Amino acid sequence: MRMVMLGAPGSGKGTQGQRLAERLGVPHIASGDLLRAQVRARTELGRLVAGYLDKGRLVPDELVFDLVLPVVLTAAEAGGYVLDGFPRSVAQAVKAEELAPDSAGPERVIFLAVPEELLVRRLLERAAAAGRSDDTPSVITDRLRVFESETRPLVDHYRARGLLREVAGDLPADEVTEAIAAVL
Ligand code: ADP
Repeated sequence: MRMVMLGAPGSGKGTQGQRLAERLGVPHIASGDLLRAQVRARTELGRLVAGYLDKGRLVPDELVFDLVLPVVLTAAEAGGYVLDGFPRSVAQAVKAEELAPDSAGPERVIFLAVPEELLVRRLLERAAAAGRSDDTPSVITDRLRVFESETRPLVDHYRARGLLREVAGDLPADEVTEAIAAVL
């Protein structure tokens, strides 16, 4: 099964994506995790992307595609994936549709809908637990803005293709997991 998790920062798409991948027996591919691993490993790519991550801006498409697409194509051939964080804009989805065969594209897209006040609260709690360089109040605001302008349009993109399933993400994590299982 090939799945895309769509949701704002703080929507729980990472947690739910991991659980879903385990359930389906496919890899969980999180573009943000792959990018942060490059930064930690101090690779050339890591050096190029660090500033975008810290500011909550989208990393340029060429860099993301070079890193993520081969992983996605390999997983698609091996039986599927749960993608988290990619595609992150309509432009990325269109480009991925051009570069990859239909047989590698998503069969379902789960959109985790969460009200903005709750997103901010969750992200600030995570920031207090001292996690990521982009979990600071001003960068959180910017990431939510980038989600609204760049990523939310993907909801309509996938709805028009009949792939979208919307799930309420403002419930306890176990209930969200069950709701996702129910729409698959
Ligand atoms: P969150 O959804 O909480 O912001 P992610 O780990 O998905 O967390 O993304 C963290 C950062 O990684 C983003 O703010 C962005 O800078 C970068 N990033 C992740 N995926 C992509 C992508 N597909 N295209 C461009 N940038 C990306």
